Amino acid sequence: MAARSRPSAPKTRSPSSVANGEAPSHGQWGRAWEVDWFSLASVTFLLLFAPFIVYFFIMACDQYSCSLAAPVVDVVTGRTHLSDIWARTPPLTMQAARIYAAWVAFQVALYVLLPDVCHKILPGYVGGVQEGALTPAGVINKYEINGLQAWLITHLLWFANALVFSWFSPTIIFDNWIPLLWCANILGYAVSTFAMIKGYFFPTNAKDCKFTGNFFYNYMMGIEFNPCIGKWFDFKMFFNGRPGIVAWTLINLSFAAKQQALHGRVTNSMVLVNVLQAIYVLDFFWNETWYLKTIDICHDHFGWYLGWGDCVWLPYLYTLQGLYLVYHPVQLSTPHAVGVLLLGLLGYYIFRMANHQKDLFRRTDGRCLIWRRKPKVIECMYSSADGQKHHSKLLASGFWGLARHFNYTGDLMGCLAYCLACGGGHLLPYFYVIYMIILLTHRCLRDEHRCANKYGGDWARYTAAVPYRLLPGVF
Ligand code: NDP
Repeated sequence: MAARSRPSAPKTRSPSSVANGEAPSHGQWGRAWEVDWFSLASVTFLLLFAPFIVYFFIMACDQYSCSLAAPVVDVVTGRTHLSDIWARTPPLTMQAARIYAAWVAFQVALYVLLPDVCHKILPGYVGGVQEGALTPAGVINKYEINGLQAWLITHLLWFANALVFSWFSPTIIFDNWIPLLWCANILGYAVSTFAMIKGYFFPTNAKDCKFTGNFFYNYMMGIEFNPCIGKWFDFKMFFNGRPGIVAWTLINLSFAAKQQALHGRVTNSMVLVNVLQAIYVLDFFWNETWYLKTIDICHDHFGWYLGWGDCVWLPYLYTLQGLYLVYHPVQLSTPHAVGVLLLGLLGYYIFRMANHQKDLFRRTDGRCLIWRRKPKVIECMYSSADGQKHHSKLLASGFWGLARHFNYTGDLMGCLAYCLACGGGHLLPYFYVIYMIILLTHRCLRDEHRCANKYGGDWARYTAAVPYRLLPGVF
């Protein structure tokens, strides 16, 4: 098949021209067309080092009981060599390859073959076929929302196995954790590379492709907005939602089973991590329709950032607390445990309510009550690539009147709670909150840049009305 000709690269308008109140020019508000040196340096750094960061954390737990300093000290002082660490690392095994292949095949089958029935039987749950947001090229994609069903079936089978059938040990994930890491990497790189080739040679929608002229940026941030195979296999929806997020709660359960097997009990810290993270995961699937309107689905293109990130980074680094607690079975005092629980629940409440307010506001086109009052609205205009003008609204009250991303603030409180559940013995379990602060701050800045390009002077009016991003009075 002939390669599609590369579109000439229009420049992204500078935020200053936007702040001056010029109307945004059409179709330029998706992900960047040009790469600045900072983005390129970040992309190169992540492509080179992210796989080693994951390996380092998992190896540190496996060989050094989750100490981050001990392997560094050992290597620097010559007590061990990198080759010794590598030699002690479990290799890829046939058993892990079989488990991983079966897992991914099962999730693909649940995603593609099973039409959603949950929305027919669960009051308040919205599933079935739903529409995404308008893409920069002016397309509205349709999605089969069946993630809750996939999560429930997978977990029912897990508990049926653990409590009744004993087909396999519930510690199976922990026992194959490093061999499975190699499988996840193979899938992550394979899918990202396939998405890149597909973007050049047979894109699903050529008008929603973006090329920056920089190979590494294209590979990492993706070319195609919505790569699909057939009608229902949407890469972004599948890899973002499954297999990584469905696995998240199973991985935690496997860690709890391992703690029980090794130490004869499951600690209250492990219960807290399992419960708080399960609430977050279940919330994700219960609100999967809302997820169609988030940045991942509405704005990000599908490349290594999402493909490899969903296969490797998410399941391995978001579950570090549970892994840590297998090696360090921390039993928290009651006040400490209650404090962690309250912080986690409060963070979750803010996260959910902020997201709910925006969703309600957008669904009802502002005809709703936010904190029992008529919402404050900023009216906006923008254009899509086909030159069509569109109208939108920004919410400037409720949590969205406190700060422009208070949903991130709630999320970060929850992240901190998971880390605090692990006590103060080691730095490793705190990596998650440090990483999330960097991720969400960067995401906030990235989103604001995109919104400024999309809405022009209307966005400037919004930032004047709500001056802070994450914490009122601070940032
Ligand atoms: P948001 O849900 O905040 O979506 C941002 C988009 O919402 C903007 O691009 C804009 O889109 C629209 N918007 C912005 N301000 C307003 C407003 N005042 N009123 C109405 N619409 C507005 O961001 P995310 O998609 O990043 O996050 C969704 C949730 O997922 C968050 O709670 C976040 O914490 C969580 N998250 C978790 C991650 C994890 O790894 N655990 C990673 C990323 C996110 P438009 O163009 O439509 O105007």
